[in-house]
Amino acid sequence: MEIANLQDVLSSIPPEIVKRGLVYYEVGAVKSGVFHGNTFRAVVRGTRDYEVLLELRGNVLTAFRCTCPYVRQYDSMCKHVVAALWYIHKSKGDLKRPWAIKRKDVEAEVLSELFSKSREAWID
Ligand SMILES: [Zn+2]
Repeated sequence: MEIANLQDVLSSIPPEIVKRGLVYYEVGAVKSGVFHGNTFRAVVRGTRDYEVLLELRGNVLTAFRCTCPYVRQYDSMCKHVVAALWYIHKSKGDLKRPWAIKRKDVEAEVLSELFSKSREAWID
């Protein structure tokens, strides 16, 4: 699924972050990714596991969130978000369906968390 404003988004953040995010994607750090309506949620493995949320309108990224300290501190896009964006961008449409990711790839605790937390809880 091509992200329409990917170039704009990536050119607005430090190249170092883009580079690290792409490396994260390449080494398979994006562990699970599912769409719930317009919201894409993934777990990205870094120093520890971080959760990334991306909001899309059509193919346009409109908002992002990550549980890592970088986003809290700088209010700017982190390498985990870049990795998740690239994960979507590289997918061939198979992410449009929820639960497209094979169940064995999704850790049990992530699954149960997905079911127990409402989407609204993540918006703010
Ligand atoms: Zn992050």
